[in-house]
Amino acid sequence: MFENEREELIQILKTRGIRNESVLAAFRKVERHLFVPEIMRFNAYKDVALPIGQGQTISQPYTVAYMTEALNPQPGQKVLEIGTGSGFQAVILSELGARVFTIERQFDLYNQTLKLFDKLGYKIAARCSDGTIGWTEFAPYDGIIVTAGGPTIPENLKKQLSIGGKMVIPVGGKTTQTMKILTKISEDKFETREAPYFAFVPLIGKEGWKE
Ligand code: SAH
Repeated sequence: MFENEREELIQILKTRGIRNESVLAAFRKVERHLFVPEIMRFNAYKDVALPIGQGQTISQPYTVAYMTEALNPQPGQKVLEIGTGSGFQAVILSELGARVFTIERQFDLYNQTLKLFDKLGYKIAARCSDGTIGWTEFAPYDGIIVTAGGPTIPENLKKQLSIGGKMVIPVGGKTTQTMKILTKISEDKFETREAPYFAFVPLIGKEGWKE
């Protein structure tokens, strides 16, 4: 279903600058319409964010592609995602061969998405809690991707990143943020790249916005 629409979306992503063939292949394979509410299916291949309930959204495809390309996970690497939401980003990472750990703070979304992972046959470790604290049991991670916007970069997440690991995280105000791409050089040294103008729902938690 929606093969043509999906191919058109790939062309849009290419036009917008996404070059990584593995990322484009994952977008070709993963059916985004399965991650949005039924009534939204016909809009699933437009390059826009869509509501998924509980006041949350599935990120715009370009944003997911951009963050995935920036993270550039290699097969077998451990990746921690904060903000499971619809599960779309987690599944894209899984298709790239990453071992994905994902955290969602809203129980209904967590529960619904866990069932979807199961139904689609993805082995993704999911947990319902405050992701700004991270997930210490499986740390350190080769990559950390945060799909909600916070005021600062949580210290816990910096600690749980392996040396040489990368973190992609939007940081800024409640409505617009700058994407920060960090590489951990040593225990307390990070190299940072930035890209402006992204818009995420708020990261709420101990090291995020207060409710
Ligand atoms: N990656 C998701 C994007 C969902 S929107 C996707 O592909 O659909 C961001 C999600 O982050 C929301 O579901 C929101 O509930 C969740 N969130 C916000 N703050 C969080 C926190 N501190 N820990 C875990 N999840 C959080």
